[in-house]
Parts: sequence; C-alpha cells; structure tokens
Amino acid sequence: MQCCELNKGAGTKRGGKVVLQMYRITKTMPSIVRDDCTGVWAELGDDIRGVLPYLNAVVKEASYDPQQRSLSFRRGERGLSITPCETSIARATSMEHAQSTVDELRDDANENWEKRETITAFYKCRKEAKVKDMVMLLSQTNCKECGLPTCFAFTMTLRRKQKHLKDCTPLRNRHLLRRGKP
Ligand code: SF4
Repeated sequence: MQCCELNKGAGTKRGGKVVLQMYRITKTMPSIVRDDCTGVWAELGDDIRGVLPYLNAVVKEASYDPQQRSLSFRRGERGLSITPCETSIARATSMEHAQSTVDELRDDANENWEKRETITAFYKCRKEAKVKDMVMLLSQTNCKECGLPTCFAFTMTLRRKQKHLKDCTPLRNRHLLRRGKP
C-alpha cells in the first residue's frame, strides 16, 4: 500500500462552513491485529478539535477523551482514532478502503459542524477506548522518547492516566508544527 497525495473533498464546501477539506495519507503499516489488513495514518488539513464533541454526541459508541482531545469509534470492521490534526484507521483492507473511510470522516465532520446548533455537544468520555485503537494514535516506531520501551506500553500508561498523548514526543512535535509552534 502506497502513501497518496493530498485528497480534497469534492463538493464539501458549503458557504465556508466546512471544518475539514483536505487530508493526506502519510503512513501505512501492517495491522497489529489482522494479517490481511493495514493500519493507515492521515494528516488532516485542518484542526478539527472543535467538531469532535459533536461527533461524540452523534456517533454510536464513540469514545471521546476530553483531556487528550481524541475520539475513537468503530465503523464496521475498521477502527478510527482521531486527534485534532490526524486520524488513524485500523484494519483497512486497501488504500481505497482507507481513503473512503477518511472521506466518510470528512463528510461527517463537515455535516455535523454545519448543523452543530441542533446538536448538544458531548464533552465526556462515554466509554474507554480500546488499547489497540489507542495504539493507532501513535507512530508505532517504539522510539522510546516517552520513556517507555514500546508504543503499546505507553498506551497502557495512557489508560491508567499516568501519561498523556503530549508525552509522546513525535506526536507532540507533529501537532506543534501544525499549529505553527515548532
Ligand atoms: S514516544 Fe511515542 S512513538 Fe516513541 S515509543 Fe513512546 S509512544 Fe511510541
């Protein structure tokens, strides 16, 4: 599976009310769960933290973490984990499958942002995200910069509230760069 060029939404701009127009598939790795699937990461062209509590309100069985500003949910076999500027997809079967998943996320984000005045944003954690979904938020490089030997071990400390996503140096650096604070 190859990383692809920037994908721009067709017809998603509605009077300047979109929150997400573009994304770029940045990385793919063999799934940690299934041999026939791939984990895919996409950099989002816009910071979508504002819409995550609205998606948390409307997406069935979504898991929102108000401290990490992350949202995870299942879509069929796929698992999505979203931070303000990045999303990962677990168990994609092809690049087309991954792209259609991010396209759906983009459309959901834009549609729910547009009708946010009719939705009560939900800022609480309804249920804890699964560890294997949280691992997908990270680079999975096992670089040890967080002080843990593996990304999986780091995820366990996230679950125990001993660490925060910002303690993952590569992830924090990517977000700071995106927000113009290198
Ligand atoms: S710093 Fe981040 S990428 Fe590196 S091992 Fe820790 S969790 Fe994984």
